[in-house]
Amino acid sequence: MRNSKSGRSADQGAKTSPLVRLRGYVLALAAVGAAAALRHALSGFFGSGLVYITFYPAVMLAATLGGFGPGLLATVAAALLAAYWIIPPQNAFLPMTTPDAVGLAVFATMGSLISLVAELYHRARRKVAAYEQELALRQTQARLAGIVGSAMDAIITVDAEQRIVLFNAAAEKMFRCPAAEALGQPLERFIPVRHRAAHRDHVRNFGATGVTARAMGSLGALTALRADGQEFPVEASISQIEVAGQKLFTVILRDITERVQAHEALQRSHQELEQRVAERTVQLRDNEARYRSLVTASAQIVWTTDAQGNIAGPLPTWQAFTGQTFDQYQDSGWVQALHPEDREPTAAVWARALSARSLYETQYRLRRHDGQYRYVAARGVPVLEANGAIREWVGTCTDITERKEAERRRDFTGALLGLFAQKGSAKEYLDSVVEAIRQWSGSQALGIRLVDEHQMVPYESWAGFEPGFIALEHQLSLQRDNCCCLRAISQAFDDQDRPLLTPAGSYRCDDAPAFLKQLPPDQQARFRGNCVKFGFSSLAVIPIRYHNAILGAIHLADRRPGQFPAASVEFIESMTPLIGEAVHRFQAETELARYRDHLEVLVRQRTSELQTANVRLQVEIAERQRAQETLQQTAQELARSNRDLEQFAYVASHDLQEPLRAVGGYVKLLQRRYPDGLDDKAREYIAGAVDGANRMERLIIDLLAFSRVGTRGQAFAPADLEALLDQALKNLHSSLEEAGAKVTHDPLPRLLLDASQMLQLFQNLVGNGIKFRSQRPPEIHVGAKKQQARWLLWVRDNGIGIEPQYSERIFQIFQRLHTRKQYPGTGIGLAICKRIVERHGGAIWVESQPGLGSTFYLSIPEPSGIKESGL
Ligand code: ADP
Repeated sequence: MRNSKSGRSADQGAKTSPLVRLRGYVLALAAVGAAAALRHALSGFFGSGLVYITFYPAVMLAATLGGFGPGLLATVAAALLAAYWIIPPQNAFLPMTTPDAVGLAVFATMGSLISLVAELYHRARRKVAAYEQELALRQTQARLAGIVGSAMDAIITVDAEQRIVLFNAAAEKMFRCPAAEALGQPLERFIPVRHRAAHRDHVRNFGATGVTARAMGSLGALTALRADGQEFPVEASISQIEVAGQKLFTVILRDITERVQAHEALQRSHQELEQRVAERTVQLRDNEARYRSLVTASAQIVWTTDAQGNIAGPLPTWQAFTGQTFDQYQDSGWVQALHPEDREPTAAVWARALSARSLYETQYRLRRHDGQYRYVAARGVPVLEANGAIREWVGTCTDITERKEAERRRDFTGALLGLFAQKGSAKEYLDSVVEAIRQWSGSQALGIRLVDEHQMVPYESWAGFEPGFIALEHQLSLQRDNCCCLRAISQAFDDQDRPLLTPAGSYRCDDAPAFLKQLPPDQQARFRGNCVKFGFSSLAVIPIRYHNAILGAIHLADRRPGQFPAASVEFIESMTPLIGEAVHRFQAETELARYRDHLEVLVRQRTSELQTANVRLQVEIAERQRAQETLQQTAQELARSNRDLEQFAYVASHDLQEPLRAVGGYVKLLQRRYPDGLDDKAREYIAGAVDGANRMERLIIDLLAFSRVGTRGQAFAPADLEALLDQALKNLHSSLEEAGAKVTHDPLPRLLLDASQMLQLFQNLVGNGIKFRSQRPPEIHVGAKKQQARWLLWVRDNGIGIEPQYSERIFQIFQRLHTRKQYPGTGIGLAICKRIVERHGGAIWVESQPGLGSTFYLSIPEPSGIKESGL
């Protein structure tokens, strides 16, 4: 709160008034008087003892209630009374005994002390009371300051000279002026110059009334002035108080700028609204006038009849619509303007309404002045007199032809859509469509023709055509014939067709005979004339479209002329895409069904073929299985007999050696024992027998070696082929020397094999190279080459060579190409080689030309591929 402080000391509030003081003194004297009387009454008990027994309480009472003064007065009065009346000598002050004098002095002193203490007590209490009062006042002031400071309204207090003594925070904000600047300033500073005089009078008058508070502004809206010179509307109330004899006025102000603005805006929008309402009213009035003229000009007929239902006066709207004269339509003549079929039912409804005196409502076809029948909805009500009797009938007739037509079209479209969804076959669907269009159009005859795969256009469905007509028209071909129907489907029009064509490419003719007649004879040929021959006059041919194609046509024919107005044809045209879609769907379904049947036939054929093939295959499989089994059996038997044979060869050759040695031994014995007893012939025979035995031995050894390849083979182990070849050459050393042979070799690999058999193989092949040498000193080369998972080894010589036709035979046992005389040998060497190579999972063959040397090739699998052959 910005105000000047009003100082009031606490003492001022604690001062005792003179009246209260006087009351203290009187009380003191009364108390002493009462005490004296009591003492006197009790003097029988006390005598002259206990002089002050009643006076002490009196002094205490006076001092307590009245303070120091009354206390002292009570002490003095009590002392004087005691000295005069109670202390001997009675009724005189003196003389008195010393003890009495001392007692008196003590009483006086005690009384004074009691008074003093009581006074001090009084003062202290007064001070406390004053302090509490001050405190309460301060709190009130602080609360007030808080209220003033936080008030939303501006609060300004001015003194009698209208100088500002208080200016709260809201005032600072409202007037845009800090309190420090405002305090001490005249209030007028915040009032616009033109209002200052009035304001001054107002405040003065208010001050004079003595009323403490009232609202300002009775003179109209108040305007205040901000420090920055801006004026604004305010609402104010004023109150006055008098503080310390000084008049203070407090003004409470509220800025009502926003409220005024809102009010103004409200007023503006209110005005605008009123303006708009006024405009709209004018518009409505215009509309109404226009509407009224529209009603008059439209097909709405207004009619009135008398109470009996007879037309009594002229009906201009009826006359205008029907073209009937008053004479024609008066009384019940109006019924003649109705469609003959509708006259009777309408008259019946009218009669019912008349007798029931109730609403008349019906629909009928009414002939217009141009002869065309229009659907109208008629309504009429009875107008009653005050007594309930019918005065007249008033009614209207409304042309609802368009609405009826729209409804008919809607129903027709709905029906067509329904057919599309319901019908299961093309025939069923087309029959229903023919019926629906016939009903809708009222056409006497109607057919739907579709183009088939032979470019013929037969009727798929029809109604109303004579059988003879259909028989003729069924033969129509797109390629051969020429007629409206065909040109509508091919859309290949002649210029002469133009008068009959609709914008959508349909034919429409109101009077076919008349049209044909006016054509020159050469052009009449373009129309086959069947329709005319069969008596049809109104014709329409509407192509059935499906996307960009035309599937066929709808053919309408009627013996009455002018049956197919352009609007009807146009409407059917709008329906044909739907019919086309359905036809296409049914055609596609038929096609699909045909294709499915074809597929089924194919599937059946294939199935039976497959079954036959299956049977054959099964027979074959069974045969093969049997063959396989036989083969396996044979193989097993072969293996067994092979094994037996090997065993037999081994045993035989092994056991044959023994008797052979015995034969050889005995023949040698013969030679040695009878050197002289034998002649040359005998010696020659013996030599022959020895030779035979030797050869037999050689044969048996070789045969044994051959049989051992399978039965006595060793386990495969890694072996160095080069080392094995070296060993073989060492074994053949003498023959090599003797023949002067030269043996070379490539680097040879280390392989997993039976080393002793491989040694034998090398020995056999190199040995043959030496044995079957030509005139040239033998040159033998052992080669090796890696081939994927195999090793190719070869032994090449420059010997006599082999005829190619023997290249297989030489590997068979005992097969030789030469006599023993030419080249010694048993014919087992290569057979052994073959068996060794086969045991190693390999193959052996020879390439050779007589006189050019031979090359024996061995192909042996890599170690991982090496398997022990079973044989
Ligand atoms: P043998 O050497 O005991 O006659 P082989 O089985 O080793 O039996 O050979 C069979 C036959 O193949 C031989 O008799 C020979 O006619 C022919 N032959 C083998 N090796 C060679 C060769 N390197 N050159 C020419 N002919 C050969």
